[in-house]
Amino acid sequence: MEFGTKTAETSIVKQETSVPPSKEVAKTVNTLSTENEDFELKGKVVTKGDIKHWNNSRGTGKLFNATIVDSNGDEIQATFFNEAVDTFYQLVSENKVYNFSKGRVKLANRRYSSCDYQLTFDKNASIVEVFDDGHIEENYKFSKICTLKNKVGEVVDLCAVVVGVGPVVEFTSRKSVQLKKRTLTVVDDSNTEIELTLWNNQAENKRVDVGSVIIAKNLKVTDFQTCSLSTIRDSSKLVVNNTQIPEATVLLNWYKKIHGKEPSVKLTQKTDLSEKLPRVSLSELQERFKGKEEGQELLVISGFIGFIKKDDVSSIWYTACKNSEVCKKKVVLGADGLYTCSKCNETSSECSYCYMASIKIQDFSGSFWVRSFDNTAHKIVGYTASYLQKLHNTDEQEFDKVMNSLPGKSIEAVVKVSVYGGRTQATLQSVLEPSTQKTLELYLKDLNK
Ligand SMILES: [Zn+2]
Repeated sequence: MEFGTKTAETSIVKQETSVPPSKEVAKTVNTLSTENEDFELKGKVVTKGDIKHWNNSRGTGKLFNATIVDSNGDEIQATFFNEAVDTFYQLVSENKVYNFSKGRVKLANRRYSSCDYQLTFDKNASIVEVFDDGHIEENYKFSKICTLKNKVGEVVDLCAVVVGVGPVVEFTSRKSVQLKKRTLTVVDDSNTEIELTLWNNQAENKRVDVGSVIIAKNLKVTDFQTCSLSTIRDSSKLVVNNTQIPEATVLLNWYKKIHGKEPSVKLTQKTDLSEKLPRVSLSELQERFKGKEEGQELLVISGFIGFIKKDDVSSIWYTACKNSEVCKKKVVLGADGLYTCSKCNETSSECSYCYMASIKIQDFSGSFWVRSFDNTAHKIVGYTASYLQKLHNTDEQEFDKVMNSLPGKSIEAVVKVSVYGGRTQATLQSVLEPSTQKTLELYLKDLNK
């Protein structure tokens, strides 16, 4: 009997030591931590991003991001990986409420998030839609525009009136990704204006007019040369003219009655890069690098097209990846009759064409050879390289006509001049709208030397 009791006691003690100190299941964003991955979070999905695929040295995969807000109005970013994309992408919808569990809690990248943590979900995740009792509301923490100068690098919410809407601008990033952006100018009742850049889908499809009240969640305060705001991919949310948000109504009243009586303070200074660069004549350009072994400089030049090298067409364009909208990698026709892009890892019977032309530019003082790649040459020629290539094959006369129309055409451009080991190479960076006045000033300056 005694013996038996003792055994029972020992076994109880044993059990106690093997049970970890009990932790409560986290039910809200503010109780989540990386120490405690046991959570059961009830939250509303406020933004859901597109599926993204990656392909790098560590392998391939896919993901999508969502922003979840809980009953306290606190927000957290969730990322779904691979099988979780297959299982949950269709299920998870914006403005619906779910119980999220069986994921991991990680430290968030504060560059893209206003929360310390983020959630990740894989195939083990449990996400169950629950009844929306209307208790989960998005929580905005609006920043006045006049305070943004002190918040560079932070993520903020904004309630502002649109006073300017720019055009959708398409361009290619340094990583050869085709991007679209639209810049809005917005003002709030601190009577301060700032530029807000919308990207891609939001740039193209978000309908905003002058006088609209824009309510934005998760904007990045940037300071690239000048203070401005930018949307963050998959995270920013924009609502236009939502009268249910009291701040929006107050602001609209301010805009109608007060705005315009005093000039606004402008946080974003318009900067045109080419305005800041040295403007040189072509003879000055020659002189600048004479005798130099190494160096690099961005300069603005203006003149006219003297000559385009066209010994054979391969000196005008090259065969490029068929996805030349996003990838301008050179491809070579293999023995199998197929083109392989080593960057996209794709093989195709088709290719496209991209410019790589040598152009002699002339002005009143001299001439200079520059290289011109797809973006700049397209602007100079007026046609894509693929179109011109087709023309060359089908209608040589018309092709010659296009090529012969180019000499004499005026050009103003930003050019990057590099010198390595005494050899100079110049590449057109961007083609500007010609400004006759400035060319004239330069000409007069040259005369007075
Ligand atoms: Zn490619």
